[in-house]
Amino acid sequence: MDITVLGGGVIGLTTALKLQAEGHRVTLRTWKVHPDITSERAAAFWSPYRIGEDERTFSWIAETYRELEKISRIPGSGVSMIPLRKYLRDGEDTTDRWWLRAVPDEKYSPLTDLPAGFAAGWTVAVPLMETPVYLPYLMKRLLSAGVPIHTGQQLRSFDELEGTLVNCTGLGSRELCNDPGVIPIRGQIALLSPQTVGAIVVDADTPTYIVPRADGCVVGGTYERGQEQETTDPATIAAILERAPGLAPGIDTTRVLRTYAGLRPYRSSVRLERDGRVIHHYGHGGAGFTLSWGAAAEVARLVR
Ligand SMILES: Cc1cc2nc3c(=O)[nH]c(=O)nc-3n(C[C@H](O)[C@H](O)[C@H](O)COP(=O)(O)OP(=O)(O)OC[C@H]3O[C@@H](n4cnc5c(N)ncnc54)[C@H](O)[C@@H]3O)c2cc1C
Repeated sequence: MDITVLGGGVIGLTTALKLQAEGHRVTLRTWKVHPDITSERAAAFWSPYRIGEDERTFSWIAETYRELEKISRIPGSGVSMIPLRKYLRDGEDTTDRWWLRAVPDEKYSPLTDLPAGFAAGWTVAVPLMETPVYLPYLMKRLLSAGVPIHTGQQLRSFDELEGTLVNCTGLGSRELCNDPGVIPIRGQIALLSPQTVGAIVVDADTPTYIVPRADGCVVGGTYERGQEQETTDPATIAAILERAPGLAPGIDTTRVLRTYAGLRPYRSSVRLERDGRVIHHYGHGGAGFTLSWGAAAEVARLVR
């Protein structure tokens, strides 16, 4: 079947790859590509952050974990398996681990070596996607599979294109689908010079996280509902940097390479459904990378 995938973020690229692998003749059309999109700005580790705890979501994150673990074995993919260490200030957290059965048993364990001020913690091995490498890697896979990629046009209406469409336009769907349920949730980040932290570190009680990558150490973050501006606030960045040594003692927060913000395309649940010749696939909030491969597989099933 001839299918046009709209959107060049992680959702559009993954969906296009999945459909191409099923034998469809896929074309990708998008307004922007990396580095000028939300997907580039993500911390991008596998983490079912503020998403529905239903079976559909569970099957997507489990499938994505398996696929990313496979991709982590491909040199140059930008994906690696890395420990995620989560710290809790008030004892054992039982509320947010519904997703653990997506992870093989041997990859999870409680922590005993905690920084000062934390009462409990656990660690689990997760895929980390280094976005400056992973997004170009996905793009290269599409190009080498012969998928045409057209960029630079912001679509105003689906009527501008013919045939079967898969709409992966993230926050762009607010206007394109006239869907007020899609709202931006801003995250602010400071990129420090590369550091040897050895794990992704997350404070369960504040939105603080540290992600060591080859190009630098990502320190976040915020979860600012309804913020439309993709800009950082110096006072907020200073507060994030002040919290970081509490999570990773020894981290050097003086060497800031740059600061940036991204807008998570939030919706109360992901819209993945067919509406005539358009299949909608948007609203992945703060978990687009975590849902990507499993949700793309569901699009492929819908097309079938
Ligand atoms: C600070 C931050 C940290 C995050 N950390 C994580 C994390 O650790 N793990 C995780 O899983 N997720 C994380 N996320 C969430 C993740 O980044 C998003 O869920 C994901 O990037 C959404 O991907 P997308 O492809 O839907 O959107 P986008 O990346 O925004 O891509 C949308 C695409 O559609 C195109 N487009 C839009 N409108 C139109 C139009 N009208 N016509 C043509 N093209 C159009 C755009 O140009 C773009 O190419 C984080 C996000 C932020 C901001």
